[in-house]
Amino acid sequence: MEEYLDLQDLNPVEMLGKIGKYYGKGAVFTSSLGLEDMVITDMIARNNINVEIATIDTGRLPDETYQLMETVRSEMGIDLKIYFPEREDVEDMINSRGINLFYHSLDNRHFCCNVRKVKPLKNILRKRSVWITGIRAEQTVARKNARKVEYVRDHNVWKVNPLLDWSRDEIWSYVSIHKVPYNILFDQNYKSIGCQPCTKAVGKDDDERSGRWWWENGVKECGLHLTGGVNTDLNLGKNSG
Ligand code: SF4
Repeated sequence: MEEYLDLQDLNPVEMLGKIGKYYGKGAVFTSSLGLEDMVITDMIARNNINVEIATIDTGRLPDETYQLMETVRSEMGIDLKIYFPEREDVEDMINSRGINLFYHSLDNRHFCCNVRKVKPLKNILRKRSVWITGIRAEQTVARKNARKVEYVRDHNVWKVNPLLDWSRDEIWSYVSIHKVPYNILFDQNYKSIGCQPCTKAVGKDDDERSGRWWWENGVKECGLHLTGGVNTDLNLGKNSG
């Protein structure tokens, strides 16, 4: 990749536009249909930005998330590309460890997230140059050190996080102003939504990730964003091969 794109001082729409212009389908935005993801989806749709929007159907999502997928495709007119875990991986896992294995041990939980999320993500990112995400620094301890543009060696991509410094209030404000569709579970005291068996509603003052894997005390991550970026140079393009 020859281009050197300095994205550091751009606003999210400018960032996305520049990525679409220079990388096109070499860039992918991975959406889990969360609030932040819907904001980015709206920005891409509203500004006709040429990047693929992909999501992973883990097979265990809440009905409300599937409804939102349908809305994104039919009402927002987005060609949402849906990726799946490998059938053999799921069969082997379920037959050897049980259907609801994630409740039984941390190892099982990580194993399930790896099969249903991390491996499909690797497929999505294969042969890409740029990976756009909706993570925010405020969300978890692990995300505090993320950068808006960082090189992720494990996937050999540049990861771009346009909303990294947005607050939750700013996200809701954008959703409200632009009438962005969102998962109706957010109106039922959910603050973060993943797979149905691993997500629950929380109290008004609870941490926003507290409803995810609520039986665990450790890092509230599925592994998608645990591959640390190593970039200290914010000019996207270096090392992108
Ligand atoms: Fe499996 Fe739960 Fe992870 Fe979904 S969130 S992949 S069901 S452990």
